[in-house]
Amino acid sequence: MSKRKVRVRFAPSPTGPLHMGGIRTALYNYLFAKKNNGDFILRIEDTDQSRYVKGAEKYIINALKWCNLEVDEGPESNSSKGPYRQSERKSFYKKYVDQLIKSGNAYYAFDKSEELERMRELAKQAKMPNWQYNSITRNSMKNSLTLSKEELESRFSKNEPCAVRIKMPRNEEIRFYDEIRGWIVVNTNNMDDKVIFKADGMPTYHLANVVDDYLMDISHVIRGEEWLPSAPLHVLLYRYLDWENVMPKFAHLPLILKPDGNGKLSKRDGDRLGFPVFPLEWTDPQSKEISSGYKEKGYFSESFVNILAFLGWNPGNSKELFTMDELIKEFSLERVGKSGAKFDPEKAKWFNQQHLRNKSNSELSSLMLENCKYDVGNEYLEKVAELMKERATFHHELLSEDYFFKSFEDYDQRTFRKKWKSNSISLVNEFFSELNSIESFNAETIENTFKSFVERKEIGMGALLPCLRLILTGKGMGPSLFSIMELIGEEEVMNRFKEKSIFFENLFLEKSDL
Ligand code: GLU
Repeated sequence: MSKRKVRVRFAPSPTGPLHMGGIRTALYNYLFAKKNNGDFILRIEDTDQSRYVKGAEKYIINALKWCNLEVDEGPESNSSKGPYRQSERKSFYKKYVDQLIKSGNAYYAFDKSEELERMRELAKQAKMPNWQYNSITRNSMKNSLTLSKEELESRFSKNEPCAVRIKMPRNEEIRFYDEIRGWIVVNTNNMDDKVIFKADGMPTYHLANVVDDYLMDISHVIRGEEWLPSAPLHVLLYRYLDWENVMPKFAHLPLILKPDGNGKLSKRDGDRLGFPVFPLEWTDPQSKEISSGYKEKGYFSESFVNILAFLGWNPGNSKELFTMDELIKEFSLERVGKSGAKFDPEKAKWFNQQHLRNKSNSELSSLMLENCKYDVGNEYLEKVAELMKERATFHHELLSEDYFFKSFEDYDQRTFRKKWKSNSISLVNEFFSELNSIESFNAETIENTFKSFVERKEIGMGALLPCLRLILTGKGMGPSLFSIMELIGEEEVMNRFKEKSIFFENLFLEKSDL
């Protein structure tokens, strides 16, 4: 038998923004597809109109784009297997519902929601809190299995609203293989007669999902663990529709857990602990509440992808930094774990820092140019990037020091109090007059001049360097001062020296007068 083409789908419901778990599912589907020369399909599962949230579909599409998860077929593309929004596929499902009813595997149910509620209430009173519509209780409900032929006909002729439910067999074992979890066995006695088609003429998730996977020729269903309990029902639907020979393989991904490992990561954890749980910023259309996004926080999309890749998967060696192409090459479902993956916000920052360091200065300078309020060229920003990149986690931090562009206004008072001494001004004056006479004003020569100066004076570096840094940057710490001096240039160095050495000395004198 020829090998089946790999076709996977990411099938989100547009009920809000995609959180990290959702986009990780998309990523694993994408990696699996690309690794196996397959197709990555985006299907919007919007059959439940009551949960539809405006803007959510656009958000999903934008988030996939930001992460560079290119969709081969989806709502924005024209392909023979579309449309890719379930609300536009309404007419596709009825035929299969009829088939299931005809073969005796589904039935009409007329029970109104108040009646179902009443049954649940009665069961609760009888200390059976988990009432289900199932192979036993269905016998006392209003459905096409219990109502007489005449009663049924009269209801149909009056167009009485009814749903269609799957007829769960009694005491049968359903077995299926999960690519991550191995064999799964569930007894149908633990399953209920789920509604597969609603009174409003729309299929429910279960039916639409299975029918569409079939019609779209999906080879592998890779989705979150929360769908594992639904999988036995899906397997039954494949069986009853006679599609078992083309049933996709299943892989249920582990949960993403809170940083302390205590339960599933939620939006509230992000708010509470100060990290985003969404790829992009999201404004709730109703409450107008804004939730932060990785993009807006300054994460590179490649870091975000790298972070997600490691939430459930690992390459089996110590390599941690991956580009998308490397992930495609290395990814396999065998290396996806069963147990939940703890999210570590500090590690997430580390990933971004590492990706930042791996970027060339020219790449970084183009990013800086967009946000730089000073009129300096690309070349200058490249040099700032070189000096700052070891100290930055996010690219906007490369521009966090104004002293690269102008003399400072605020200064570090602690350093001043600790380091400016009565002999500082004379040391500073002498050092700058030596600097005045050097031939080429570059970091190396400046450093050599500095070293020989402190040696001759028999002082420690700490007696002079912090004072120079204060004068030139206003700070107590930072990247190599000699490199900063080379970058801002001789004229600027001398100007700051003239202005700021007097400023600090006066301050010192004022203080000692007190
Ligand atoms: N619509 C489901 C969701 O929102 C898809 C589950 C699946 O992939 O089968 O996650």
